[in-house]
Amino acid sequence: MEHLSVGNAQRCVLESVAVLGAESVKLEQTLGRVLAEDVCANRDIPPNDVSAMDGYAVRSADIKNVPATLEITEDIKAGDMPTKTVQAGQCARIMTGAPMPDGADAVIRVEDTQSLAVHSVLINRSAKSGHDVRTRGESMRNGEVVLAAGTEITPGVIGVLATVKGAQVQVYRHPRVAILSTGNELEDIDEPVDPDKIPNSNSYALMAQVQALGIEPALLGIARDDPAELEEYLQRGLRFDVLLVSGGTSVGVHDYVRPTIEALGVQMKFWRVAMKPGHPVAFGSTAGTFVFGLPGNPVSSMVCFEEFVAPALRSMMGHARLYRRTIAARLTHDVKHQPGRTEFVRVILGKEDGSYSATSTGAQGSGMLLSMARADALMVVPAASTGMAAGELVTVQLLDGTVFQDDVGYSE
Ligand code: AMP
Ligand code: MG
Repeated sequence: MEHLSVGNAQRCVLESVAVLGAESVKLEQTLGRVLAEDVCANRDIPPNDVSAMDGYAVRSADIKNVPATLEITEDIKAGDMPTKTVQAGQCARIMTGAPMPDGADAVIRVEDTQSLAVHSVLINRSAKSGHDVRTRGESMRNGEVVLAAGTEITPGVIGVLATVKGAQVQVYRHPRVAILSTGNELEDIDEPVDPDKIPNSNSYALMAQVQALGIEPALLGIARDDPAELEEYLQRGLRFDVLLVSGGTSVGVHDYVRPTIEALGVQMKFWRVAMKPGHPVAFGSTAGTFVFGLPGNPVSSMVCFEEFVAPALRSMMGHARLYRRTIAARLTHDVKHQPGRTEFVRVILGKEDGSYSATSTGAQGSGMLLSMARADALMVVPAASTGMAAGELVTVQLLDGTVFQDDVGYSE
């Protein structure tokens, strides 16, 4: 199963992972999580017919001919209950959200009235029954399902949960994710600068990609290209739900990840994908852990995270929308492409004549991390393409990290 297409590799990953179990979380901690249960209203909202305005609760029959002078029976503030019935020729002063008194069937806002004396008011407009009255249960009805399991918790959803007194919420658990970098050439962030070494950026870029999904990963550090050391680190990583291993997945004589990982009982599903960057990407699993072997080249590692790891993590968290949002953009220059692999070109987006434009960030080497730092989006060049021309409409995948969609949105 080598040289899978991007789509087949994505399907392979998503068919392997499953949503994790549920846990009970305090409402304040649930933003971005996914509901694991249906949530029902526990009362009618509003609980009574209430006024939608500050004004006067009237009998609509009394204000057919206006202006009309009405006697004020009482003042009903939000939080008060009315004590008097509004009779013919009467009204009650009422505030927004306060319950309607018996007898009244409409509200005239204060701007359409004129105060005459302490106990009387001139109503300057007529209104139909129900005008500016919010009827009992119009927002939600006691017992009705207001949020279905699978709903992503946004600020609006938090408001609804608070309305139904959901102080504790059943949400899907987050995967525990570990990140391991491999390679003798690597120098970690707290080590002194050695001009002959390569700074470890992958651990941190991957950390941030995981954090952007709302998960705090564990950094396991750097394993040297030594089978015994690698085995020890991999064993630690296999205690997590998901292990991301950066580097060592190529076919170099010192790339020990493959044999070591297989010796530890990880069943590998694929080792290569027809993509650029990111060709040497691998995926497999044990009973409790999904393992992604990400290419060492910094851009490849990040692109593979976007295309395979992010959808997998979102699926495990119970999200229906797994993929970064794609939009159409007009290319501002030609892009060369040899048919064979799906290419992900880092682009900067602009706006031209009301539509998006896409411009390459410049040199696209898989070690050129600045191309990722500058990019707004990944432009997808389908594997079969023989190149793209300036002015062509292309599909770009937004990297802004906040919007997701339910299908991948591009063809490889
Ligand atoms: P590998 O996939 O192990 O063959 O690594 C390919 C290249 O990626 C290496 O030569 C390094 O230059 C680079 N590389 C590997 N791991 C990292 C890392 N953690 N951070 C930055 N660059 C890396
Ligand atoms: Mg290496």
